[in-house]
Amino acid sequence: MTAHVIKVSGTVQGVGFRPTVWRLAREMGRRGHVLNDGEGVTILIDGDVDAFISTLRRNAPPLARIDSIRIEPSAADLPDDFDILPSRTSQPETGIAADAATCPECLAEILAAQERRAHYAFTNCTHCGPRWTIIRAVPYDRANTSMAGFPLCPDCAREYANPADRRFHAQPIACPACGPKLWLEGGAGDAITETARLIGAGKIIAIKGLGGFHLCCDAGNEQAVAALRQRKRRDRKPMALMVRDVAVARTLAVVDEAAERLLTSPAAPIVLLRQRANTGLAAGLAPGQDRLGIMLPYTPLHHLLLRAVDRPLVMTSGNLSDEPQCTDNDDATARLGGIADHHLLHNRPIVHRADDSVVRPARRGAITIRRARGLAPAPVTLHDSFGATPTLLALGPDLKNTVTLLRGNRAVSSPHIGDLSTPLARVDYARTVELFLTLHRAAPAALACDLHPDFHSTRRAEELAAQFTVPLTPVQHHHAHIAAVMAERGLALDHAPVIGVALDGLGLGSDGTIWGGEFLLASFRGFERLAHFPLVAQPGGDRAAREPWRMAVAYVEALLGWENAVGGHAALAALKARGADALVKLCRSTLSARTTSAGRLFDAVAALLGLCVDEQNYEGEAAMLLEASAARSSDRMCYDDVVSPADWAGLMRHILDDVQRGAATSDIAARFHSTLAAMVVAEAARLAGQHGVSQVALSGGCFNNALLLDAVCDGLEAQGLEALYHRVMPPGDGGVSLGQAAVAAAVFRDSHP
Ligand code: ZN
Ligand code: ZN
Ligand code: FE
Repeated sequence: MTAHVIKVSGTVQGVGFRPTVWRLAREMGRRGHVLNDGEGVTILIDGDVDAFISTLRRNAPPLARIDSIRIEPSAADLPDDFDILPSRTSQPETGIAADAATCPECLAEILAAQERRAHYAFTNCTHCGPRWTIIRAVPYDRANTSMAGFPLCPDCAREYANPADRRFHAQPIACPACGPKLWLEGGAGDAITETARLIGAGKIIAIKGLGGFHLCCDAGNEQAVAALRQRKRRDRKPMALMVRDVAVARTLAVVDEAAERLLTSPAAPIVLLRQRANTGLAAGLAPGQDRLGIMLPYTPLHHLLLRAVDRPLVMTSGNLSDEPQCTDNDDATARLGGIADHHLLHNRPIVHRADDSVVRPARRGAITIRRARGLAPAPVTLHDSFGATPTLLALGPDLKNTVTLLRGNRAVSSPHIGDLSTPLARVDYARTVELFLTLHRAAPAALACDLHPDFHSTRRAEELAAQFTVPLTPVQHHHAHIAAVMAERGLALDHAPVIGVALDGLGLGSDGTIWGGEFLLASFRGFERLAHFPLVAQPGGDRAAREPWRMAVAYVEALLGWENAVGGHAALAALKARGADALVKLCRSTLSARTTSAGRLFDAVAALLGLCVDEQNYEGEAAMLLEASAARSSDRMCYDDVVSPADWAGLMRHILDDVQRGAATSDIAARFHSTLAAMVVAEAARLAGQHGVSQVALSGGCFNNALLLDAVCDGLEAQGLEALYHRVMPPGDGGVSLGQAAVAAAVFRDSHP
């Protein structure tokens, strides 16, 4: 029987793939070898190749992701048994794995008193532990990670070298004898026990974790939670919880099967779950929201701490509002000194910041709100037709920034970098982009950025374009949103245009106005703007994005005429009393910016319903409160007579009349959602018919809203249209860099036939 060479690509390095191949081959009595190379893993094997591959697929290690397998017959000489050979390094095409939550075997070890890793906070193996957060350079070897400063003890070295061991070639392998140490600043005794005692006494602790610092306190302690909010200057933004296990999560929130899978996945994200009543948690963890963000412990440190305190903990990111999370001990002591009473630190350096990922279960699968620790930088595989793409780097937008490196049909998006509004964030951004290029050994052949000339990300892209002397493609924000969903859903580079519905906060349009409620005819190459939400004034510019009542006034003025409308409505009289007349003047002046933003429409309605009037405490608050309110209603009524696609005035009039009649706020919120969805569906269907299109791509931050997403998808499907929505990337701006990269790939292809 002839031998075969099997080439496996995907996330197959640093995840225990070779030892798995080795073990299976030996068990099956095969001869050959396995090695890492630039494209992934190469296997030479004798015997029935199909039988081996199906066994391998069934037994692939938990963190591996096989993207493709190629098989060729081989006449190579076979050794007498099966070996693991040294790596052949060339240009690295293999993915860097994301960090993974502690696996069940490691958890059992730290909890078993007789194990040498009992109670050890940095236990890990090839199936779990840090990856992205510790890597400084490729290939992924210990010397290229922040574990380089911890020489292996003889016991760990033995495990590391033994292919039959779970820790074979586990680069971050460590034990109490040789690995990182944990301590409580200024504390005596066992750090975990002492920290648990302080938390029990109502203290706020800064805890160094995997990809950054958390600020932590007892989630049942009103004073501690209030103090944390006040010190962090975070008045209303929801704070996430960490609980010991799924059983505890169930006592606080509704955990169905899908939610349990998300909670216990190796990514261990924050999962937004419907909150139960009377949980004993402090009030004000998520003001006005119907959901709580809950995650499970994802490092041994967290497991040990949660077992020691045995109560739900607030675990919110260790930063001041809007600044990036701390990663460095000194930095944390300095910047968090005014917030935390104590610091629980360790000496394993964090190379890359990685915030906690945030996902929400929804009917069509989880919506990724923030793609960060555990999810990124897992690669996204695009359609084969992208295969010839040279290295492209997309710099993202300025809010919820991520950057994406595209090479061939493999896109690697960075974990959430965040908002680039503070100087600290910009320094962090420059560093992250540089590290990203270094890690992928990438000299980009082209760059992409947002169309907005004043974005910090755009300026950085211009600098890099000059540095590498390569072309820069500015991509319109909503085109990028739509391209992102097309790319992740595997549409071909030359795919015919689809109808793109981008419902979003803000993006500069090709005509210089601010877009955000867009119906596009879009391909990767380009787009045509077919229709949009009403163009209304955004009185006060950025202030109008923060202060929902301004948008309420602007919409009423634009759709109904302020003087006409104000008479019969108490809600508007209240706005008049806070100075609406002056705003109306501003709306009518040519000085006012104008926008078609769908996000601003949500703000306006939230203000008219009294849910969020004066000021949003965090981005998206008004829209989130509006959705949470609607979710409380069982009303599925639609303002039927306004579903003609463009009757925005009718929609506004019905809302005001309902408010005036004293209808329940949650019912009005629900009617707004169903009517808006119906209008969007009707418009998309009309345009699809006109242009002979059967697919409608949905993107933009408004599709973080599960009610809206479900209603729009249901409506489109009822019309026989295919709805393309995000499954991997966030609908919000975290997905934009992927779209930019895909568009740049199409543009590059056209200019280099
Ligand atoms: Zn493990
Ligand atoms: Zn050791
Ligand atoms: Fe956007």
